Amino acid sequence: MAEIFRLSFNKTAVQAAIVFGVLTVMSEPPHAVAQEGMSPQARQVIGKLSAAERKQFFDLSRRERRAFISQRMSEGGSNRPSSENNQTIDDGLNPKSPRAVQKSAGLFNTGVKAIYPAGAKCLEAKSFFGDQTRHDGSSRTPHFYQGYHEGLDISAEEGTPLVALADGEVVHRYTGGRLVGNQIYLRHTPDDTGLPVYIYSKYKHFRDLPDLKIGARVKMGQVIGYSGKTGTTGGHFGQAGYPHLHLSIYVAPNGEYKTLKIKIAAENLRYFDPIALYLMGARKTYDNPAVRALSDGDKRVHIPYKSASGKVMPKGTRLIWPFLCAD
Ligand SMILES: [Zn+2]
Repeated sequence: MAEIFRLSFNKTAVQAAIVFGVLTVMSEPPHAVAQEGMSPQARQVIGKLSAAERKQFFDLSRRERRAFISQRMSEGGSNRPSSENNQTIDDGLNPKSPRAVQKSAGLFNTGVKAIYPAGAKCLEAKSFFGDQTRHDGSSRTPHFYQGYHEGLDISAEEGTPLVALADGEVVHRYTGGRLVGNQIYLRHTPDDTGLPVYIYSKYKHFRDLPDLKIGARVKMGQVIGYSGKTGTTGGHFGQAGYPHLHLSIYVAPNGEYKTLKIKIAAENLRYFDPIALYLMGARKTYDNPAVRALSDGDKRVHIPYKSASGKVMPKGTRLIWPFLCAD
């Protein structure tokens, strides 16, 4: 999750992020650094941080800290994201501001509501796409993605099986990095889903890196690995970490992608609200502004799933919840 952080401070990276949609995580280890050696301006910026923010600041790498300081200095020392209501894009933000760039890439609450099945028990999401809070209601740090969640967090005890949410192909695997841990990307083609777009699903924090090779095909409902807390310990989620699945969904008009160290990149790749994924076929909505424009009634999303006994509901669905639901 460190990626938006760098994004915030570097125009070229911001533009690249609009193109690529997916952002890069720093893998530099954190360095212990004292405030000595910092400029008076830097110390002033740090002086304005809350105690919690200061702690997070010192968990950052040297490079991240430098970028953070220079952004804050260029913002005139403001130390929080604006408390804008994120329902509109035309809200007077400078279009080059980090938050405006994020919004144009589709990172905002769409207002969808997950309706879990009455006939089964599913693990539920605790922090939604575009949320400024974590699973426990605490505020997300503005240091990462300006404080907005770029995925869905589903709490799950370590070792809970994770399943492919659709047929697809493993296109990326990665291990390491703070806030990432063990991660894979699946690509789901129109043939896999019946949708007219390509879907990429990013699963983070597996207990162990899934034993799946790049190019391996997976079937909807196939166990692809086990829930864990890799990448979550220290800093952001506290020393003990937080076992959960972080699921991000991206949509692209074609299936071409590039493999980078920690992510895939593709032209016109855009964020998509993971809950809205389960509306796509029914509502013909393939981007977040279109989802946000739906009526409240249409934003109620009935979660499709596979049960532990192998039943798929509703019958014929080609997208399911990333955990099996208890019968
Ligand atoms: Zn998350």
